[in-house]
Formats: sequence, structure tokens, C-alpha cells
Amino acid sequence: MKELVVISGKGGTGKTSIAASLIKLSDGVVAADCDVDAANLHLVVKHRVRRTTAFQGGKKAVIDDALCTSCGKCAELCRFDAIDNIDSRFHIDKFACEGCGVCAYFCPERAITLLEEAGGEWFLSDADSGPMVHARLTPGGENSGKLVTIVRKEAKRAAADGGYGTIIVDGAPGIGCPVIASITGADAVLVVVEPTLSGMHDMKRALELAGYFGVKAMLAVNRFDINEEIAAEIIEYAAGNGIHLAGRVRYDSDVTRAQINGMSVVEYSDGPAATDIRRLWKAVVDELDLEV
Ligand code: SF4
Ligand code: SF4
Repeated sequence: MKELVVISGKGGTGKTSIAASLIKLSDGVVAADCDVDAANLHLVVKHRVRRTTAFQGGKKAVIDDALCTSCGKCAELCRFDAIDNIDSRFHIDKFACEGCGVCAYFCPERAITLLEEAGGEWFLSDADSGPMVHARLTPGGENSGKLVTIVRKEAKRAAADGGYGTIIVDGAPGIGCPVIASITGADAVLVVVEPTLSGMHDMKRALELAGYFGVKAMLAVNRFDINEEIAAEIIEYAAGNGIHLAGRVRYDSDVTRAQINGMSVVEYSDGPAATDIRRLWKAVVDELDLEV
């Protein structure tokens, strides 16, 4: 079983559009959306939800007012300033609480309890290409790295159960905790970059991250024709650093039209972007020897 993660150094590069098209072009893969903070793969991959499972995001402290004597010890000790004194009553701001448990440990009245907080949901769905695992983090919810790990684990389970040889993951953007959770232990990443100076900068950070975790990296230059000069610099950088250039995709307004219609561009059109992504898919399959 091989796992390919589509990532980008930042959001808005067309990462999800390309991931959705690769999923659509396969004859059978497991799809996973690890961009749990802004999940949108499900908007362009038709699917039916088979199962919904709650995700516990972490613990939060709660004060039992009946036991609290308003001694103030908890507010004094909380390093996160999560406990306020309002009219001599102590309240915990659940958005500021990190669930460290210090207040509960030191409360002389045992008035504080740590309770699991609902962090979101994850879904096992059926798409045309095969199973799809995706998730929704509750607004303000925490532990997106933990939810990403669950999505990847469940995608692997679905692949093993259904005999699928390939998992295509729409990874989290950026280089923070969720993207690290998206790529560690994967077989390869496809970094989607657009030809702008900031895009090139973010691409380098994403490639460095993949290198740090020993994950093979490939590159796709999206909308390369909006600035062919920077696109050429990106391609030169890739060649100089042993990064496989899997493809270049032309700007095409059909990409937006496809999104509005809730589908991938390869499903919607035979225009320039769809043609280039088909070529990109073939290059990725050949390079990774994917079973699809
Ligand atoms: S330490 Fe316990 S008793 Fe004291 S204010 Fe906090 S919750 Fe109330
Ligand atoms: S659990 Fe930790 S962060 Fe939360 S209120 Fe108590 S001391 Fe503060």
C-alpha cells in the first residue's frame, strides 16, 4: 500500500483541486482529507457518508460552583490566564484552557474536573473512486494534528479492508503540526506550487519539511503560465535539488466552474487544466509505480 500526500507551503495554490482530480482519475483508491481545519475535498468529490464518528479534542477544566469557595488559588496558578474572577465567582474560559490540570490538582475543595471536549467528527464515506475518510473540526476546536492522525489511520484501515493499493491524501497546508501529521511515514508528497515569489518561498519550506522527514518529494507547478519567469526558476530549483517535476498545469477558468458545480476539473472539462492534470497523474503513477 502506498500513500501519496498532496501538500502546499500555503493555502490557495490549487492543492485540493489537483488532489480531487487525481482521485477522480484513478480506477480505485482510498481518498483522505487531512486538511481538517478547512476541509473541502468533500465539496468536489461526490460521496455518500457511510459512518460518522465523534472526535474528542482534548480536556477542559470545569468548576463546580457548589463546591467552590472562591479562594482564588486556581486563577493564581493557571499559566494560561484561563480563569477569571467575575463578581467573586471563578469562571474558566474554555478557549484559553489548555487542559493542563494544574487547577484541578491544587484546588483545595476538589471543585475542578477535567472533562473531554467534543472536537469534531470524522466520516467514512463512499466516493466513486473508493472509500473516502474526511473530518470536520469544531470551530475553535483543538488537536487538529490528532484528528489528522485519525483520518490517516482510518484511511489505511479502509485500504486494507477493501484491498486498495493506494491512498491519496489532501494534506494540510503550511508547515505546522497538521502538515507534519499529514506527511510523516508517507511514501511521497506532491508539492503544489504557484509561480509567485511567496509561492516559491513556501514551496521551499514544504520541500525542506519533506526532506527532514525523509519523504520523497515531487513537484507540480499550478497555473504556471501566470508567470512563466518564476515558473522557470521553480523548475530550475527543483532540478538543482533532485526534486522530480511531475507536471505543470495551465491556468484555466474551468477549475473554478468545476468547483462551483461540486466536481473536479477532470470531471467537468477537457480544457487545458484537465489535460495537464491527466498528464501529471500519469507521471505520478509512473514515478511511484502506483497501483490505481
Ligand atoms: S481553587 Fe477551587 S475553591 Fe478555589 S477558587 Fe478555584 S475552584 Fe474555587
Ligand atoms: S486546566 Fe490548566 S489551563 Fe485549564 S484552567 Fe486549569 S490550570 Fe488553566
